Amino acid sequence: MYVTIVTAFPEFFGDFLSTSILGRAVKNGLVQVDLVNLRDFGRGGYRQIDDYAFGSGGMVLAAPQLQDALSEARSRSVGKRSFVIYPSPQGPLLTQEIVETLAQQEHVIILCGHYEGMDERFVEREVDLEISIGDCVLTGGEIPAMTVVDAMSRLVPGVVGRGEAVAEDSFYRGMLDHPHYTRPASWEGMEVPPVLLSGDEAEVLAWRRAQAVERTLKRRPDLLARAAIGDYLSGGAYLAVSVGKEQVPLAAISALCRVYGLGRPFLMAGDPERRRILSDEAATLESASPGKELCLPRIFGGWARGLEWIRRHEADRTPLIVEVLSSPEEGALHGLEVKRRCLEWKGPVLFHLSEGSEQEKQPGGGEVVLTSLVRGPEDLPLDVRAAIALDRFLGKR
Ligand code: SAM
Repeated sequence: MYVTIVTAFPEFFGDFLSTSILGRAVKNGLVQVDLVNLRDFGRGGYRQIDDYAFGSGGMVLAAPQLQDALSEARSRSVGKRSFVIYPSPQGPLLTQEIVETLAQQEHVIILCGHYEGMDERFVEREVDLEISIGDCVLTGGEIPAMTVVDAMSRLVPGVVGRGEAVAEDSFYRGMLDHPHYTRPASWEGMEVPPVLLSGDEAEVLAWRRAQAVERTLKRRPDLLARAAIGDYLSGGAYLAVSVGKEQVPLAAISALCRVYGLGRPFLMAGDPERRRILSDEAATLESASPGKELCLPRIFGGWARGLEWIRRHEADRTPLIVEVLSSPEEGALHGLEVKRRCLEWKGPVLFHLSEGSEQEKQPGGGEVVLTSLVRGPEDLPLDVRAAIALDRFLGKR
């Protein structure tokens, strides 16, 4: 990670870059942050960097000085593309997604504003992204710059002690983090949740995920839109397809299940001859890719057998069946509501799609929620519909 900060107040950053986790990361060379002093490019004896706003108002950082400082910042990363950000109350709010995008850049330049801000002509021509750290106004861009650098640095492997801690943090998968406790186990009559003292890792993980779900739904339900909920379900997630006579894109369906961390998909085919053909196709696929983890389908004659299989592997819990329709239908729920229900469901979730000609919709034997993918009666191929559905519910936005 390489960041250059352009500021008229470099002294702000001394302790910031030499203390605690970030200080260690800088020292170890995991994070490189250098400073360009805007004053070095000031004009005249007073090293002037600002001027009165046209049409009255306060002081504005002037374009020529900013331009010179930016050229210096760009020149420090020869051969690398620089991505220029300007912390400003007028940008989109900083989110973990923006931080992740910035962390992918070869070189990030942060321009710290002050006074009334920067000459707009310079901003329009040179800035790639304005970022606000909240709907409030600060005196300068230095604290927002520190916020961005700090958040980016946590994504650099090795900066945060336990790698997985970052993945468990709030917003990383679009969900809030679970609560944390430390010793003493009993403090002023308040006890730590007993499960945390049980030593049962699986139980602790399940409790933490459930807490994260509860918090997110209660405090920040708006986050659900971009949350990847797969890891937060209290049971497994499965994909089932009711097939008719048409060709089933086996390889694509299996690949989707792998990508989204589902088990092997279920194919429901009533016709024995159809089942035989599907089994042959699966075997051909397997022999074409020896040794590869393919996630090939389990083929069943009907719902009863498929659901029985799931219950057997899910401590007898009934799956929530998410019926993914290819066109709007009465009773279909908004995708966000479906996400919420999946998270609240105490058991596995089964996403079900039907092949175009196959009308066997209602699987029965479990609670069913309907949702539709598209507004109009689109005739999308089965694997495309499956990809949209899985990404909508399990992918990160
Ligand atoms: N006149 C500006 C406005 O109302 O939009 C406010 C300028 S502010 C006093 C000075 C500088 O502080 C800005 O140029 C910006 O760099 C920084 N700043 C202030 N509030 C910020 C926020 N919420 N997010 C990011 N940067 C901020």
